[in-house]
Amino acid sequence: MSTFKAPKGTYDLLPPDSAVYLAVREAISAPLRRAGYGYAETPGFENVELFSRGVGESTDIVTKEMYTLTTKGGDELALRPEGTASVLRAALEANLHKAGNLPVKLWYSGSYYRYERPQAGRYRHFSQVGAEAIGAEDPALDAELIILAVDAYRSLGLRNFRLLLNSLGDQECRPVYRAALQEFLRGLDLDEDTRRRIEINPLRVLDDKREAVQKQLTGAPMMRDHLCASCTAYHEQVRELLTAAGVVFEDDTKLVRGLDYYTRTTFEFVHDGLGSQSAVGGGGRYDGLSEMIGGPSLPSVGWALGVDRTVLALRAEGVELALPAATQVYAVPLGEEARRVLFGVVTELRRAGVAADFSYGGRGLKGAMKSANRSRARIALVAGERDLAEGVIQLKDLGSGEQRAVPAGEITAAVRAALG
Ligand code: AMP
Repeated sequence: MSTFKAPKGTYDLLPPDSAVYLAVREAISAPLRRAGYGYAETPGFENVELFSRGVGESTDIVTKEMYTLTTKGGDELALRPEGTASVLRAALEANLHKAGNLPVKLWYSGSYYRYERPQAGRYRHFSQVGAEAIGAEDPALDAELIILAVDAYRSLGLRNFRLLLNSLGDQECRPVYRAALQEFLRGLDLDEDTRRRIEINPLRVLDDKREAVQKQLTGAPMMRDHLCASCTAYHEQVRELLTAAGVVFEDDTKLVRGLDYYTRTTFEFVHDGLGSQSAVGGGGRYDGLSEMIGGPSLPSVGWALGVDRTVLALRAEGVELALPAATQVYAVPLGEEARRVLFGVVTELRRAGVAADFSYGGRGLKGAMKSANRSRARIALVAGERDLAEGVIQLKDLGSGEQRAVPAGEITAAVRAALG
């Protein structure tokens, strides 16, 4: 134990659990890579205004949860609380949208930071894999992204997740709805904070988790009943494409999500085994975001899936991922000459693509074999002075316990054959 601990609301990823996180990131990104999404990586911090303008001045993320800092040079920066604004900023800066091949499809994976009240499944540093399809307005693109997320969860073996779907309308129908909702909300018995929210972002009042608020929302006007003809047709197409792909969804007219930039399609994946922090991923269409951060009109859609919560969901369902063995072969040298020979064998095996490890520190047979078993290797290679004098290495199958002597020159081939 050192004097220091991981900061509040954060945790470290270490073996053996860290292998599960890697596998989850890999599983979420695999369907994206197969669908033409290219990898993007942006800095961990950005100009603070990118988020205040992009995510929304009135959102919890911007008002309460951002880690902001002033550099020695006087720049106002923020640790990134989410990925979309950064990725869009990067695509615009590099003029990817001008290369004539829209949509620009990008995926990313990384750390995000929000100063939230920590609890199970909610951290101040967490990890997301995300995807953005920039510069096209096509219901098939919304459907594509949702299907890719569903396929990612399914490939991990998750079953108890649900997809909630809604449309938030566009610049034509949303303002009309917003005004109707405001009028309804102003007549309710609400606290000061919530009253202020009615004026700034009334849709988010629908998202209030408090029962006293939810009770009063019965009979509130719903976006669904105010969608314009083009938004209705668009949403209907997304729904049809999802259904044709065998994706089950639930219409959730109250789904607004905590970021201001969403338009039309919005969705969230929830998992029923996670308690109050049940959202494992979410996203939607953000047709106005590019203009909000100073770019041209580029209708886009994207999502971000939480890696931490996906791991928790796997645990809740008791899913054990089939992870590749970290070590297949463990070498146990007995004596100086054996150290030299087996170290060479381990190097050769690794170069041949076999995961091999070595007993360091000149340990005796008993301790070294314990490490071999703990490493869950399938094979141990043991050599002492007598073996070397005979020009052999002992190949021991750690499953069956069977052991045989193999000529030193044939050991790589013998190991590969034994591993199958
Ligand atoms: P959001 O950007 O808020 O839509 O979040 C997308 C996903 O990231 C959520 O569904 C969660 O799985 C995950 N996520 C967001 N905030 C946190 C947090 N504080 N701790 C852990 N995971 C989070």
